[in-house]
Amino acid sequence: MKIIYTDNNATTKVADEVIREMTPFLGEYYGNPSSMHTFGGQVGRKVRLARQQVADLINAEPDEIVFTSCGTESDNAAIFSALNTFPEKKHIVTSKVEHPAINQLYKHLKREKGYDVTFVPVDSKGRLDLDLLYGSLTDQTAVVSVMWANNETGVLFPVEEISKKVTEKGILFHTDAVQAAGKVPIDVKAANVDMLSLSGHKIHAPKGIGVLYVKKGLKFTPYLIGGHQEQGRRGGTENTVAIIGLGKACELAKENLPLVNTKVKELRDYLQTQLLEKIPAASVNGDPENRLPNTLSIGFDAVEGESILLLLDRDGICASSGSACTSGSLDPSHVLMAMDVPLKSAHGSIRFSLSHYNTKAEMDRIIDSLVPTIERLRQMSPFWKDGKVV
Ligand SMILES: *Cc1c(COP(=O)(O)O)cnc(C)c1O
Repeated sequence: MKIIYTDNNATTKVADEVIREMTPFLGEYYGNPSSMHTFGGQVGRKVRLARQQVADLINAEPDEIVFTSCGTESDNAAIFSALNTFPEKKHIVTSKVEHPAINQLYKHLKREKGYDVTFVPVDSKGRLDLDLLYGSLTDQTAVVSVMWANNETGVLFPVEEISKKVTEKGILFHTDAVQAAGKVPIDVKAANVDMLSLSGHKIHAPKGIGVLYVKKGLKFTPYLIGGHQEQGRRGGTENTVAIIGLGKACELAKENLPLVNTKVKELRDYLQTQLLEKIPAASVNGDPENRLPNTLSIGFDAVEGESILLLLDRDGICASSGSACTSGSLDPSHVLMAMDVPLKSAHGSIRFSLSHYNTKAEMDRIIDSLVPTIERLRQMSPFWKDGKVV
């Protein structure tokens, strides 16, 4: 059975072009890019090209790009550097719906380091309460971190507007753009962000490579202290193979952006329309008007998300409930909870996240699998009677 992969917000297939680009550097060209000899220099040249390719995706300069080990490291490095810049300031701000890489870090800073944390709430469509965000800012606020796009619902936050309001008060602004990259245009200059995180494995590069954009001139304190790599902003010999792959992936992401916003969006919209039409008591989570083009979070009343996923899995369909990081726990995700999604549909929520590798035939196979699956689960559900939720 051929697998249908619709879990691209969890991780993506490494593009064949990316593998081709990396392979020689995994084998033959193993030099250290910092070495004086020509053999290492060849690798160094390729790493420089990759830095340029990454910068081009987000309209940055190459020396504003710091390679890290993952999106999580980028998020942590950004916040710790910001706190180091303002050691006397003890207030930090974020949203209630961040990825654990920010959410858990902020909770840790509150619990272990005594920071005063504002977790800005969202409304039932996942839209940020901007008045509350701006109202929370004081002369004690060191940093605001708000994601560009939500990994579970795909909801987009108005990062440009927030950044302007935050930075004009002398407060640092970081955004986690891991899910936005390759799906919506990112321009760090127009958005005027201080720091921005990316992750390779969400954009068809391998796992274990991340990026932190650090605005030129911004004071930056390294998180990993060691050698002079990354201009002293992150010690440790570069993951040259993954960096080279990420460069290629960024070049492809830029080329494929129009495709994601036409073909992929059409597939997502088709899947959504068909499911809403064919399955009663189903609802879309998030803001349909302002959402990533590839993401569909959809709740089915009176069934369990985990059961849906198991049955889809038997048909070779990979989707997700909540986020991969929260599965294994029985609570609905903190994102759906923050949106006050009613428990009856939050529990039965699953996420499809598509890529340009998906096809219409795959969407039809998902629909053909899911419609009878929900019907069957509802026949067994104590919360469903005579075609209605009880
Ligand atoms: C996946 C993800 C991360 C973490 O990236 P890793 O490279 O897996 O550490 C951070 N933020 C968001 C929004 C993500 O989707």
